[in-house]
Amino acid sequence: MIKVSNLQKSYKSNQVLKGISFHVDEGEVVAIIGPSGSGKSTLLRCLNFLEKPNEGHIEIGGIFVDTAKATKKEIHQLRLQTSMVFQHYNLFKNITALKNVAHPLRVTKKLDKKKAEEIGRHLLEQVGLSNKADHYPISLSGGQQQRVGIARALAVNPNAILFDEPTSSLDPEWVGEVLRVISRIADKEKTMIIVTHEMNFAREVADRVIFMDDGFIVEQGTPEEVFDYPANDRTKKFLRDYQ
Ligand code: ATP
Ligand code: MG
Repeated sequence: MIKVSNLQKSYKSNQVLKGISFHVDEGEVVAIIGPSGSGKSTLLRCLNFLEKPNEGHIEIGGIFVDTAKATKKEIHQLRLQTSMVFQHYNLFKNITALKNVAHPLRVTKKLDKKKAEEIGRHLLEQVGLSNKADHYPISLSGGQQQRVGIARALAVNPNAILFDEPTSSLDPEWVGEVLRVISRIADKEKTMIIVTHEMNFAREVADRVIFMDDGFIVEQGTPEEVFDYPANDRTKKFLRDYQ
C-alpha cells in the first residue's frame, strides 16, 4: 500500500534523509520513533511532497512516483492518497470546527455545502465533538482542536493518514483523549504512519515500530522486538535515555 525506496532529501549540504526504504501494508499502523533531528518529520513531509525529495521512489495507493522527475500531475495524485495531522493542528481560525472538517470535502471532492457538512457532522461525532460543530478553534481546548484536525484528515477518506507528533504540543491533560481517538481509528484498519514520542502509545497502537537516527532507518520490528529486545546499540541508547 505504501512503498518507499531509497528516499533522499538534502537541505543544501545537510543530507537529512540518507536513503530510506520501507513499506506499510494496507491497514497497518507504523510508529516512527527517533531522536530530535533524525529526519522523522522530513520523511513524512516528503511522502506528500510538502518537501520535494531529491531522489527515490514513492508508491502509495497504486500511485507510483519517481521523485527526481515527478510531474505536477503525479504529485497531485500522490497527495490525494494521504492526509496529514500536524503537531500544531493548522486549523483555519476564522471558520467553525464543522467548516474546517468540511473544507477538504468541498475543495478536493467538490461536494456541495450541504453534503460536505453532513459528512463533516458525522466525522465530528466520530471524534466526540458533535456538540462543538459551530465553535471556532479559539473556543476549543488543544485536545479538541487536534480532534477537529483528525476529523479533517479523515474527511477525504485517504488511503493513509500521516501523523506528525499529534500530541506533543498539547497540555498533558488533553493527550489521553487524542490518543484514544487515534487508537479508535487504528482499530478500524486505517493505514497510518505515526511519528510520536509517546512510547507507551506506540507500543499499544503500532503493528510495527521504525527507529530512525541521523537520516537512516536503523531498526524496525514489532513493538516487542524494538522496545523489549532492541538489536542496535543506537536504539538501545535512545530508549534508555527516554526512560
Ligand atoms: P523532531 O523530533 O525534533 O521533530 P525530526 O526527526 O522530525 O525532529 P526533522 O524536522 O525532519 O527532524 O529535521 C531533520 C533535519 O533537517 C534537522 O537537522 C533540521 O535542521 C533539518 N531541516 C528540517 N527542515 C528544514 C528546512 N526547511 N530547511 C533546512 N533544514 C531543515
Ligand atoms: Mg519532527
